[in-house]
Amino acid sequence: MAANPTGRAAGSHQANSLIGNCLPAGPPAPRLGNSPKSDIEIAVKFISTRGRAPSLSFADTVLTGLASDGGLYVPETLPQFSGDEIRAMAGLDYRELAFRIIQPFASGDVADDDLRGIIDRAYSNFRHPAVAPLVQSGPNEWVLELFQGPTLAFKDFALQFLGQLFDHLLKERNERVVVMGATSGDTGSAAIEGCRHCDNIDIFILHPHNRVSEVQRRQMTTVLSDNVFNIALEGNFDDCQNMVKASFADQSFLPDGRRLVAVNSINWARIMAQIVYYFYAALNLGAPDRTVNFSVPTGNFGDIFAGYLARKMGLPIDQLVIATNANDILHRCISDNDHSPRELVHSLSPSMDIMVSSNFERLLFDLYRRDGEAVASLLADRSAPMQLDPDVLQRAREVFSSCRVDDARTVEVIREVFQSTGYLLDPHTAIGVEAARRTRHSAVQPMVCLATAHPAKFPEAVARALPTHKIELPPHMADLFERAERYKVLPNDLGRVHDFMATAL
Ligand SMILES: *Cc1c(COP(=O)(O)O)cnc(C)c1O
Repeated sequence: MAANPTGRAAGSHQANSLIGNCLPAGPPAPRLGNSPKSDIEIAVKFISTRGRAPSLSFADTVLTGLASDGGLYVPETLPQFSGDEIRAMAGLDYRELAFRIIQPFASGDVADDDLRGIIDRAYSNFRHPAVAPLVQSGPNEWVLELFQGPTLAFKDFALQFLGQLFDHLLKERNERVVVMGATSGDTGSAAIEGCRHCDNIDIFILHPHNRVSEVQRRQMTTVLSDNVFNIALEGNFDDCQNMVKASFADQSFLPDGRRLVAVNSINWARIMAQIVYYFYAALNLGAPDRTVNFSVPTGNFGDIFAGYLARKMGLPIDQLVIATNANDILHRCISDNDHSPRELVHSLSPSMDIMVSSNFERLLFDLYRRDGEAVASLLADRSAPMQLDPDVLQRAREVFSSCRVDDARTVEVIREVFQSTGYLLDPHTAIGVEAARRTRHSAVQPMVCLATAHPAKFPEAVARALPTHKIELPPHMADLFERAERYKVLPNDLGRVHDFMATAL
């Protein structure tokens, strides 16, 4: 195991992996672990995508959120795995694999035994013994079920882990923090489930009153733990987000010694935890001796960016498919170099309803050869919609394909796949499957479609596709509609929200 500077390695790996299907064959990247002096671990540092914030340790990165220059934190060096090292991971249990992937990032701040404990607890609440099982959905096409966690969406992979990690780091520092977040649906419940058992966290989640589905609301509001507070804000999702932003900017309303911590998808630990299942799926399908491709239902670009990192860490991936719904800014960007924000469309796949994707900045940083100034000036220029340099776009297209799927087609795909295989897709996953089928380059290499949610979470789309099909929540949630709820309805007023929080703490 070794770390090396990501900039150079990225270029050589990218070029090589297009020719061969295993490993970069080019000039060996500098491998710190091979240097005679360093049997001590070298801790990965984290730097901002805009180049002007101080670099941070792993623990500080996880507890920080946005960098002070407005950028996102990324590792300065990426761990690299050779073909032999990946081959040796074949057949590992999900938790052990997670340890091997995460340890090089975290080793500066988290002892190995502690990390094992964090991972064990994070993935003990998944219903399937494989944690992330693969199901075949077509010829050489697979669905990776990422909805076996407590809230039935892939966000549990990151947030179960993040809750445990927070609790560990905070106990070491003897600190108690306040998690505050806004949700349009899936993130809130996953964050609450991730933090409900944490001793050193109080969590406040704002959702737009009467604008999330009943399943989504109940998944949040039926958690009656003393440290969990749900606020139904009289406004829309943007109002919730603005409220959270304003609270982070001025935290003086909090009691002494408390600070806010973010759990949104810009948190590095979330991305990192998601790298694991790319390795897991690919290993199960024959990597590193076989190239494996992925199609990812995409909103904020966190999930698919984890796949991009897996590729840079040595996993043989040729194609990553960005699957979008009608909110298609990323598809327009990759296909036409059109990154202009458009009005939000409410779709049948609401967890992908976004105007701009926050984690795309992390990719830009890499494509601009890790030049923070270039990224900062690209994003600062508000005079016209962002345009990528032609060579940057070219580099993106070597890895990423993209496809937009509208609601009508989403419904058809759910129906077609159910009729031909008996397998029921949720609307987000259906978009990924359709995008894979329309864009895949190779029939020989396995295509893995990430199933980001359980279909019972989105009954409206399923009912449109299959009006007579009865769809049931898994047993642990069967009584969701009978459980008691607790939440506070508040006006869209910063002072009122802060009063509520200060009183609760
Ligand atoms: C959050 C979410 C997505 C989008 O993931 P990103 O990491 O934001 O791209 C897709 N599907 C479901 C079900 C989600 O909850």
